[in-house]
Amino acid sequence: MSAQPETHSTAFQTYQDLLAAIAPAGESRPIKDPATGEVVAEAPVHTAADLDAAVAAARAAQPEWAALGHEKRSEYLNQAADAIEASAEALAELLSREQGKPLNGPNARFEVGACAAWLRATASFVLEPEVVVDDGESHAEVHYRPLGVVGAIGPWNWPMMISVWQLAPSLRMGNTVVMKPSEYTPLSVLALAAVINQALPADLLHVVSGGREVGEALASHPEIDKVMFTGSTATGKAIIRSSADTVKRLTLELGGNDAGIVLEDADPKAIAQDLFWGAFINTGQTCAALKRLYVHDSLYDQVCEELVQVAQNMPMGVGLDENNVLGPLQNKAQFDIVADLVQKAKDSGAKVLTGGNPESGQPGYFYPTTLVAEIDNDNPLVAQEQFGPALPIIRYNTVDEAVEMANGLDVGLGASVWSSDPAKAREVAARIEAGTVWINKHGAVDPRVPFGGAKQSGYGLEFGVAGLKALGTPQVISQ
Ligand code: NAD
Repeated sequence: MSAQPETHSTAFQTYQDLLAAIAPAGESRPIKDPATGEVVAEAPVHTAADLDAAVAAARAAQPEWAALGHEKRSEYLNQAADAIEASAEALAELLSREQGKPLNGPNARFEVGACAAWLRATASFVLEPEVVVDDGESHAEVHYRPLGVVGAIGPWNWPMMISVWQLAPSLRMGNTVVMKPSEYTPLSVLALAAVINQALPADLLHVVSGGREVGEALASHPEIDKVMFTGSTATGKAIIRSSADTVKRLTLELGGNDAGIVLEDADPKAIAQDLFWGAFINTGQTCAALKRLYVHDSLYDQVCEELVQVAQNMPMGVGLDENNVLGPLQNKAQFDIVADLVQKAKDSGAKVLTGGNPESGQPGYFYPTTLVAEIDNDNPLVAQEQFGPALPIIRYNTVDEAVEMANGLDVGLGASVWSSDPAKAREVAARIEAGTVWINKHGAVDPRVPFGGAKQSGYGLEFGVAGLKALGTPQVISQ
């Protein structure tokens, strides 16, 4: 391992160049474009034996990497960011083809940009030992030592960005990493790792592209010290169980069903665009997206009208078409969940303001942008995580009633309060059971600001210095 980072990165010009670099040597399976049904490429089918080999290589490389120290490791992270920027368009094209999200809007190019930005931010944080007692008699300080090998299991909605959220703080803290991407989006993560690995010493970052059985093997693996998991609450619970025997450290970023509360004094026209993107970013397939909107009776109709205006002007279609800002659902299972929940809402007598009728016979998993009004709080479209482009809008009369409905579920990832009075909004925010409450925005994550869930949306924090600490083992030196 070189103490002086040297860059030998190739800029990949097209997504086909990336695919050539990650072409599987052994067993493989086809990955289809969710917008067209065409095969994008073959992905490798890795097994538990491949996982063992990756973990052993990562374990062997870890001590030397840890010995480099924060400054050198941060230099490498910045060089990984350079490598991503050099291949940004090719990465965005591949992400668009495999995940479905358009190049434009807050989608594929935005996601690749965020990968580089997160690496640079993670390289920049200062983590000093904390002196907790120094009274002349005792001196105690807390250090954060590397954990060893981190296993990172990810979902299919933001496959590149979430991988970076997991690998950047892990590497920065002197750990090595074995990633297990979603079986729906392995190509994006393999390509991202191929680009990043151009800038890193060998064996720090491995990707094992298998199904849930490989995820299970990773969560129980005796040579993995910590699991970073982002995905559904059900899988998070399975990981808690399978990691128990080895007492692994866990960071769990799980499902949410974020509430937004529009207070009586909000300006419907002014907030409509931000409300829309808070709910429909990545075509609704976002963990901390607005999934239930509570609007005061006095401005309910106006908010609905403004949202319909915005929604009807947002083009949806194939991701590589520069005009589109909304794409398909990533997979058939997710399409069916959204279609079923909207159908249940219709059957209950709720009013579909726009959307709600997917075209049959088309190749992609497109579900139209859907707004559903006059819906009860206990309707499944409200109570369950739809994870797609369908937003229920619920009427309320008192703030107490809105807060009670917002807090009525067993998840609490994000939430938002919309108001022209910041002090009033903060008062309401303090009453909401969620890891983050945004005011007059929703879902705006920032690499400097800790992020994590309340209740069954998970535990542990990502981002910022708090996120670095979560990838270290605290050690007290006391004298
Ligand atoms: P998922 O839980 O189905 O799958 C996530 C990953 O876990 C995949 O790689 C899968 O192969 C693996 N896996 C499945 N079973 C496993 C097991 N028993 N042991 C170990 N690994 C296993 O989630 P998904 O459908 O890919 O993603 C959507 C969900 O993720 C939504 O609920 C969403 O809210 C959530 N999510 C949360 C965040 C967050 O930051 N909190 C971010 C994105 C997505």
